[in-house]
Amino acid sequence: MPSKKARRTISSSGSNGDVPSAFSFCARRPGVERTAFSLKQSPCPHCGCIGSLNRHSRALGNDLQAADGETFRGQRVYCSNRGQRGGCGRTFALFLADILPRHTLTASLVWPWLVKLLAGLSLKAAAEKLRLPFTLETVYRVRRRLRHGLDQLRSRLCREQPPPASAHADPLLQTVEHLRAVFPDSECPPAAFQLRFQRPFLG
Ligand SMILES: [Zn+2]
Repeated sequence: MPSKKARRTISSSGSNGDVPSAFSFCARRPGVERTAFSLKQSPCPHCGCIGSLNRHSRALGNDLQAADGETFRGQRVYCSNRGQRGGCGRTFALFLADILPRHTLTASLVWPWLVKLLAGLSLKAAAEKLRLPFTLETVYRVRRRLRHGLDQLRSRLCREQPPPASAHADPLLQTVEHLRAVFPDSECPPAAFQLRFQRPFLG
């Protein structure tokens, strides 16, 4: 366990308004709807300490499919530096792997759309075919974000394995193929990406 000499205190640890300084992702445990996190075995993304994490406020977001309009997206987590806990006293946002932080679209909505693009559909046709509950503007924005973060995505994927041979000239589509090759057994490779690398798929 790392010893932290420089202890930090966050005076606003009780408020909801603090800005996430790091993201972290976790899988939803099967059969558990709302509180899905086991924090005991999870390391703090700031200091790497295990066993110091405490639940904080919940992170809720808009859910277009839920009747009450809200969905459980994740949790603010506090890395306790009190008593014997040995943490760093900082907080971070822990998201379910399907959640794309700062975006309303989820990984499981984005993935089928990317697969359709790979199959040769236009962005608009793919969004319409899947009846994505978003404006075309949103979908264009997502594609822009993806293109913008492509280098980051690719360098992480390349750590796992080199890109497969591709018939596509578009770097975005090449990366989607690469993503699928790295996570061949995953139903939702963007979520698998977030779990594996602990980084947002959409920057
Ligand atoms: Zn920590």
